[in-house]
Amino acid sequence: MAVKYSNLIDGEMVQTADMLEVVNPANEEVIGLVPSCGADELDRAVAGARRAFKTWKSTPVDDRRAVINKMAEAIKENFDELFRLLTAEQGKPHAQAQMEIGAAPAIMQAQATLNLDEVINEDSEERLSRTRRVPVGVVGGIVPWNFPVLMAVQKIAPALLSGCTIVLKPSPFTPLTTLRIAELWKDIVPAGVVSIITGEESLGPLITAHPDIDKITFTGSTATGKKIMEGASKDLKRITLELGGNDASIVLPDADVSKVAEQLFWSSFSNAGQICVAAKRVYIHEDIYDELSQAIAEYAKTVVVGDGAQQGTGVGPIQNKKQFERVCELVQDAKDNGYKFLVGGDVDPSGSGYFMPITILDNPPEDARIVAEEQFGPVMPLMKFSTTDEVIQRANASDYGLAGAVWTGNPEKGVEIAEQLETGTVWINEYLHLSPFAPFGGHKQSGFGAEYGVEGLKEFTYSQVITVKKNAMA
Ligand code: NAD
Repeated sequence: MAVKYSNLIDGEMVQTADMLEVVNPANEEVIGLVPSCGADELDRAVAGARRAFKTWKSTPVDDRRAVINKMAEAIKENFDELFRLLTAEQGKPHAQAQMEIGAAPAIMQAQATLNLDEVINEDSEERLSRTRRVPVGVVGGIVPWNFPVLMAVQKIAPALLSGCTIVLKPSPFTPLTTLRIAELWKDIVPAGVVSIITGEESLGPLITAHPDIDKITFTGSTATGKKIMEGASKDLKRITLELGGNDASIVLPDADVSKVAEQLFWSSFSNAGQICVAAKRVYIHEDIYDELSQAIAEYAKTVVVGDGAQQGTGVGPIQNKKQFERVCELVQDAKDNGYKFLVGGDVDPSGSGYFMPITILDNPPEDARIVAEEQFGPVMPLMKFSTTDEVIQRANASDYGLAGAVWTGNPEKGVEIAEQLETGTVWINEYLHLSPFAPFGGHKQSGFGAEYGVEGLKEFTYSQVITVKKNAMA
């Protein structure tokens, strides 16, 4: 039976007359009902955030850290319930849901240790000039459905640490775990400091346009990011945009096939490929292409696609119908064009759930839609290359610039290539490793601004320079 969830608005748990249905992507059953908020509820949340900002911004930073730590502890204490709920609404296998629910409090607690130190610009006989960081005010946070909990907390923690208050909107596809966490936080966070509200797709633009929100921090698609930038331009809201990617993984001829095949597989297929920094284009040197592509294909055949709640599942369903149809369309386009499949490609139309088989393509052309567009699904195109210059040029020939990877027996060579890639992150011989202490962000149409680290924290503040002329009145 579908459980009714509430929003956290200005310290109170709130429901609306109309509720939205949330579906389990593994069986298409409605598992939850969430509030359908509009302008009235948003106004209430923003007014509460504005009121709370007055005291929260001057609450000692160590007290703010303590609240964030308690919020993180609440997630840890309810780990079991939360990871199961996350699998039910998002589709990812239990082991991957455990990683997300485990990472969320760890990231919050790591972010809570950061400091925004004042900078002395000048301390001379004439004057003292210093730069301090001031919280921008009320933040609107908007997050996607692929890592709903992680994306939410990695915005909430630094917003609170900086002294801002936040109104956060989960994706309508995956709001349940976040709302359950909001309930756990109700008596930990002062009223208005964090509000979490849900609604239809029309709620996002209301947040972007709200005159009393000072900043938008957004993670989602590039198409929506552009709309947010346009909406935020009306009153020049500050924005941080973490958008889509089409990451290239480059495998040099000296890579050890037996060591990289499995890792390459998971760099594309974790969370059924629905990761902004998943490897979405895999370039393999021609000398090892046949051997490595066969090894990846053989490994792929051992991985089970199914309901993430069932033991043994490695790849779950696609999270929602719209995305499922989009990935099916890209695969169909590849078929229509006669591209070769090493594994998968045929969707079984019987049964419920948005399941797509693990699909690996054998050297499709660079301009194939399945290569040029962000697939965001369990699809991996493998492509051959001959020279380093050629592969760097192909990797960079994308509107996106989020991340990338180089696999090689010679890490120095890997770094040399990394420095020529036009992306915010490059991994050598690993993938998906993000640190709460290092800035993460995109280049080109993957967005701008950063999350994590001091750079990410600064995004919630503006700099104020205070200059004191010494001995002026002497
Ligand atoms: P999406 O852009 O469709 O939706 C993201 C959020 O924006 C949702 O909460 C949605 O309700 C809201 N939204 C939709 N239209 C809006 C509008 N006009 N104004 C304001 N808000 C609006 O993205 P998605 O499909 O949920 O997520 C997948 C995308 O997110 C992929 O492109 C992926 O690469 C990207 N992503 C990026 C990162 C990153 O850190 N760079 C991380 C995760 C996902």
